[in-house]
Amino acid sequence: MCKALIIGAGGVGTVVTQKIAANPVFTDVMLASRTKSKCDAVAAAIGGNRVKTAEVDADNVPQLCELFRSFRPDIVVNVALPYQDLTIMDACLECGCNYLDTANYEPKDEAHFEYSWQWAYQDRFKAAGLTAILGCGFDPGVTAIFTAYAAKHHFDEIHYLDIVDCNAGNHGMAFATNFNPEINIREVTQKGRYYENGQWVVTEPHEIHRPLNYPGIGERESYVIYHEELESLVKNYPTIRRARFWMTFGQEYLTHLRVIQNIGMARIDPIIYNGVEIVPIQFLKAVLPDPKSLGANYHGQTSIGCRIKGVKDGKERTYYIYNNCDHEEAFRQTGTQAVSFTTGVPAALGASMWAKGLWRGAGVFNVEEFDPDPFLAELGEQGLPWHELFDVNLEV
Ligand code: NDP
Repeated sequence: MCKALIIGAGGVGTVVTQKIAANPVFTDVMLASRTKSKCDAVAAAIGGNRVKTAEVDADNVPQLCELFRSFRPDIVVNVALPYQDLTIMDACLECGCNYLDTANYEPKDEAHFEYSWQWAYQDRFKAAGLTAILGCGFDPGVTAIFTAYAAKHHFDEIHYLDIVDCNAGNHGMAFATNFNPEINIREVTQKGRYYENGQWVVTEPHEIHRPLNYPGIGERESYVIYHEELESLVKNYPTIRRARFWMTFGQEYLTHLRVIQNIGMARIDPIIYNGVEIVPIQFLKAVLPDPKSLGANYHGQTSIGCRIKGVKDGKERTYYIYNNCDHEEAFRQTGTQAVSFTTGVPAALGASMWAKGLWRGAGVFNVEEFDPDPFLAELGEQGLPWHELFDVNLEV
């Protein structure tokens, strides 16, 4: 018997709830979020009274605890926003629940993300005998599991790791983000950062870029940005000499982003407008398309993977492991686009790894610390097949 509580009824929460509800390892399923009507709509689409719903403010620990004490979840899947990570972890500790998320904590007033805040919960989760699984979406998530799989099966030492994330989809809008606009814009406007020879190298935003070829897609301009899994991967694989994260952006997207920043709409500090305090980026989120709504007209594919160079049996080798996901196919299956799909499927699968006793432990874990084999054995069946290429030109 395993009871799962999902928090957050956005694009990702919709996919997670569908996948968890379809998995018999979960006996009871609840979806809770700030706006209950959104949870009700997801539950109604699944049907059969399989999913209970509730309203909760996940910034509020007493409210979370009240919900946890009444539903008594074994595992809480946090797919609200990164701002809520710590309050949900606090409530899990207080009520004896296990925890899983897809994005690391970010304070609202500082566009800065790192694992230190959540790693600081290690002793408390350990003492409570509870598991906290961090970063179980696609990136972070599957990218770290791909790296763990490479380290386990194909390399004695990994030396160079380049995570490549291409969205070659077209949603027909001039500008929209593929997941929560506020979080997305905060992420992609930050300075670039990568790891080299034991140090972090900081670049201007989008300073390093080059065309890379993606399987089944072709060439796309790709930009080095900072991404959170780099932090845990260089810690867990100390043989890594250089680790970078590349993301593709179209010129139209970058132009809009530059204008948004130049006119102050990406500001995260409050301003007074007509006597009311507003945060420009939150206002912008309210007028941009809801990422959940993009699916209906989205065509094309995403391609995310790891390009790795290292040694095996004394010989240098290269390795590329990746998944391509089709926006239209994701929409057909779940009513959401591929970015919500590629995030929600791994989160639900990670929760089922915990429920089946395959990923357990007392403490706070990044996903690469668990056995990648059972997860990757099921990932394809869940809708995200993956492929391997050996001894190819990695371009990076
Ligand atoms: P959305 O904005 O679509 O959904 C977020 C949901 O959380 C909304 O339903 C929102 O409620 C709810 N929420 C926000 N604040 C609170 C609160 N205080 N209490 C309760 N509920 C709250 O985001 P996405 O679904 O696109 O993304 C969800 C998460 O997934 C984000 O953390 C994002 O960073 C992460 N992500 C991870 C990726 C990965 O590969 N690892 C990739 C993409 C996303 P309301 O509807 O009322 O606004």
